[in-house]
Amino acid sequence: MKTTCTHNMDVIEHEIDEYEKVLEFIDSDHGLRAFIAIHNTRLGVALGGTRFFHYDSADKALTDVLRLAKGMSYKSALAEVGTGGGKSVIMADKNHTKTPDLLRAFARAVNLLQGEYICAEDVGITASDLTVMREGTQYIVGIPHLKSSGNPSPFTAFGVFMGLLAASFKKWNTRSLKGKKVAIQGVGSVGRILAEYLFFAGADLIISDINQELCREIAHRMGATIVSPQEILTVECDIFSPCAMGGILNSKTIPNFKCEIVAGAANNQLLSSEDGALLQQMGILYAPDFVINAGGLINVCCEIEPEGYSATLARERIELIYERVMEIFDRSEQQGCSTNDVAIQIGDERLKKKIGKRTIPPVFHH
Ligand code: NAD
Repeated sequence: MKTTCTHNMDVIEHEIDEYEKVLEFIDSDHGLRAFIAIHNTRLGVALGGTRFFHYDSADKALTDVLRLAKGMSYKSALAEVGTGGGKSVIMADKNHTKTPDLLRAFARAVNLLQGEYICAEDVGITASDLTVMREGTQYIVGIPHLKSSGNPSPFTAFGVFMGLLAASFKKWNTRSLKGKKVAIQGVGSVGRILAEYLFFAGADLIISDINQELCREIAHRMGATIVSPQEILTVECDIFSPCAMGGILNSKTIPNFKCEIVAGAANNQLLSSEDGALLQQMGILYAPDFVINAGGLINVCCEIEPEGYSATLARERIELIYERVMEIFDRSEQQGCSTNDVAIQIGDERLKKKIGKRTIPPVFHH
């Protein structure tokens, strides 16, 4: 560990195997303790959200940032966005006190990396927080202004919808979802928009959310059937779409599934890689989450194109998720291993051979 002090900030360099750079920033005057992890930049500078979260210890924050940064390397490699894997976490206090000074101090930390890492919205950080952070750095995407990519959720939902269509074609030889029963767990920002795409595609919706008001609204607007958070995991359906939280695909839940496809937006759906194999053994086709939920990332990456953000370009790029996930399904069938393992294999290949490497440096149109 090496510690330096710059701009009234202590910077501690952690040496971690397989990671290019892991830095901890402490600015006591502004209440900042944060980590930035850069896992891999073979395909381009690292890009990943900033999480604002209360951790019990710095070790837990470090573990989280490492896991998230590595995940971004694979997600970006598969999404072909020409960015590397990075992520940051700001350690919140118990009351989640978030001041403009703290956000600006974090932005100065990002700025010290001079563009090696680009930050964005994540859990606990809002679009308006990004506006404050912009005062301290230009290496930031997703700020709400007229040149930015805007709300990522419709784009994420569209990518998930592409994944669902590909899975439908693989399983039933048709892209038509007319009359298919789709059970959506979580109808928040992404789930509710996915529900709309599915409704207009003719699917019969079954929904569940801990927010009953949301459920009632969507049930009314889209003729959906509401079930409890427990029932959604055992309900008879054609497609189960997890759009709430991670770890939902595990050895306890999977044996009770009565679906043929699992495809949803939630991050880290598999509790372990063995759970991917378990789904396969049960004949359930799983569309890997980090492949089909990359629409928001693809959209925000369109902001750093030299010609500026284009929504139609974002849509075209997200449509490619269909082919991408189809290749994964085909390879999984040929090799007899889980779709998740195949997606990781493809990510490893791309990172090793630098397939999809960015050729034009990012441009910031703030
Ligand atoms: P959100 O918080 O807006 O929605 C999540 C919904 O799930 C909420 O309505 C919540 O009440 C509900 N929920 C929580 N626990 C539940 C349970 N046990 N049963 C049923 N419902 C439950 O979040 P979001 O932005 O819609 O994201 C959903 C998932 O997709 C998250 O895992 C997120 O990390 C992932 N994701 C989101 C985006 C994006 O663009 N927003 C991009 C990639 C991945």
